[in-house]
Amino acid sequence: MLGGEDDAPLLGRRDAGRRAAEIAAAAQAHLDENQCLAVAADQVDLATAHPEITHHDAQAVALQMACRPVFGFAAAGGGGIVGFCSHAQTMTESMTQECAALYVVPTPLGNLADLTRRAEEILRSVPWVAAEDTRHSGPLLKQLGARARTLPAHQHNENEAAARIVEKLQAGESVALISDAGTPGISDPGARIVAAVREAGGRVVPLPGPCAATTALSASGLLDEHFLFYGFLPAKSGQRRQALEALSDIPAALVFYEAPHRVLDTVADLASVFGQRTLVIGRELTKLFETIHSLPLPEALDWLKADPNRQRGEFVLMLSGASGEADSGEGERVLKLLLADGLPTKQAAKLAASITGASKNALYDLALSLKG
Ligand code: SAM
Repeated sequence: MLGGEDDAPLLGRRDAGRRAAEIAAAAQAHLDENQCLAVAADQVDLATAHPEITHHDAQAVALQMACRPVFGFAAAGGGGIVGFCSHAQTMTESMTQECAALYVVPTPLGNLADLTRRAEEILRSVPWVAAEDTRHSGPLLKQLGARARTLPAHQHNENEAAARIVEKLQAGESVALISDAGTPGISDPGARIVAAVREAGGRVVPLPGPCAATTALSASGLLDEHFLFYGFLPAKSGQRRQALEALSDIPAALVFYEAPHRVLDTVADLASVFGQRTLVIGRELTKLFETIHSLPLPEALDWLKADPNRQRGEFVLMLSGASGEADSGEGERVLKLLLADGLPTKQAAKLAASITGASKNALYDLALSLKG
């Protein structure tokens, strides 16, 4: 195990954090194809991690390093020691390559203290950080004392970025992928990069951490057993309403992301499509003006309009699911009234669903059976 007293002469202190961090963060709970072995953070002696090991030093270091029967072997690349193998073997260039990884690293939504220790260690230890906006992420990396070089990986260059990242990994250099805030790939660039790395047979290591959707949901108080994360709705109202219609029967809480300049329009559309449901508005989460407000959807627009501050910042909108709160009896009662008033079946079912929050499809089926 690295950091044992026997290894001390080989292991300097200068770059201890950087080396040990990637080892710790590379830990996995299982042996993977390449037999990179889990190494828990507490198994690594941070103070005795290896000094600067360059790509070219790797083989030399391997010659010195004792290969032990169980943890026998550490692979080192430009990005540091990144994995252990379960059998005695000398370090080779190919092993270096096998153990480099793409780390998917969530970053804070607003409160810097939300960066996990593991994320911090990875960002400090990898040689490359692929960032959605390198200027935006610069201060964070600087504050951490990260010496990684950055490469841009945004919406408009994701394919090229993916190719560059695959090259880095093939050269044995690990890459941390970050977005401006939250988890990469969640309504953010990243999915294509991850797909390309996986396609190329590379190792992808996800780190848990900040995500606006789960952060908001955890404090929503919505009782739905399930949730559907939708992310951003279409910007144009017609398309947005169409998208919402398609969701109207789903028996799960619906989670949307929204920008401040569209929040009123979106809430207006939510109200017109879903009618009587509960809306929870999560705004500026983890920041100074964090707000989490729950209210009946029909009242939401007025509530937002009542104070312009309520329309500022970043939003997660969470809606209770179909049938989540209106019992089918109420849906049936309203449906019967509307049918008795002469409304066509489809329209009556839609309106009754909208008014009561009951399932549109269930009400439509009921309407058909009532008609006979
Ligand atoms: N990848 C991020 C994540 O894991 O949550 C989401 C990135 S997406 C481009 C940005 C959107 O996430 C914002 O428009 C907003 O809807 C939501 N969001 C991000 N930070 C937020 C915060 N602090 N409070 C509320 N919503 C937030």
